[in-house]
Amino acid sequence: MVKAVFPGSFDPPTYGHLNIIERARLIFSEIHVVVAVNREKRYTFSANERVELMRDMVKQWDNVTVHAWDSLIVAYAKKISAHVLIRGVRNVTDFSYEFDLAMMNRGLNPEIETVFLSPDPQYFVLRSSAIKELAELGGDVSSMVPASVADLLHQKLVKDFISTKNAKM
Ligand code: ADP
Repeated sequence: MVKAVFPGSFDPPTYGHLNIIERARLIFSEIHVVVAVNREKRYTFSANERVELMRDMVKQWDNVTVHAWDSLIVAYAKKISAHVLIRGVRNVTDFSYEFDLAMMNRGLNPEIETVFLSPDPQYFVLRSSAIKELAELGGDVSSMVPASVADLLHQKLVKDFISTKNAKM
């Protein structure tokens, strides 16, 4: 029975994240998806929105739960007695960044192991920031995120458009 934590911004969650969770849930007995709440960072989606969108995406799996956390991820792992962090790796650039992060987390708690998983190739190019840009330009994101995420993304973009327009008047 090995518990694992999958941390991230998930701003917004994508089918790439889901593919990693789908793989991880077959390896580990329990997955805690942890939505990072960092006061220094600006997110497009609130913590509550990110948690609810992700919850909706994983609701079919009974060994996956979603939580918000505003402190060190190793502290979350300790709180639930988990020793494994999962991170998704799409390419060498990701690996280089993720490796440094893993070593930092190991420095903070030597009992924590980071496990890197790669998604199916069709998810290699999915990135939350790129999806937001694409949606802003009116691109079709339906193959990248579920309808719930696409709808909320659209609502936010319309709101931004109206507030920018009002600011200019
Ligand atoms: P962070 O802001 O911590 O990088 P993200 O929400 O962007 O959080 O990602 C969380 C984890 O999911 C990271 O390990 C990231 O590399 C991974 N990830 C993001 N998109 C994909 C994808 N398309 N395929 C596989 N892993 C991904």
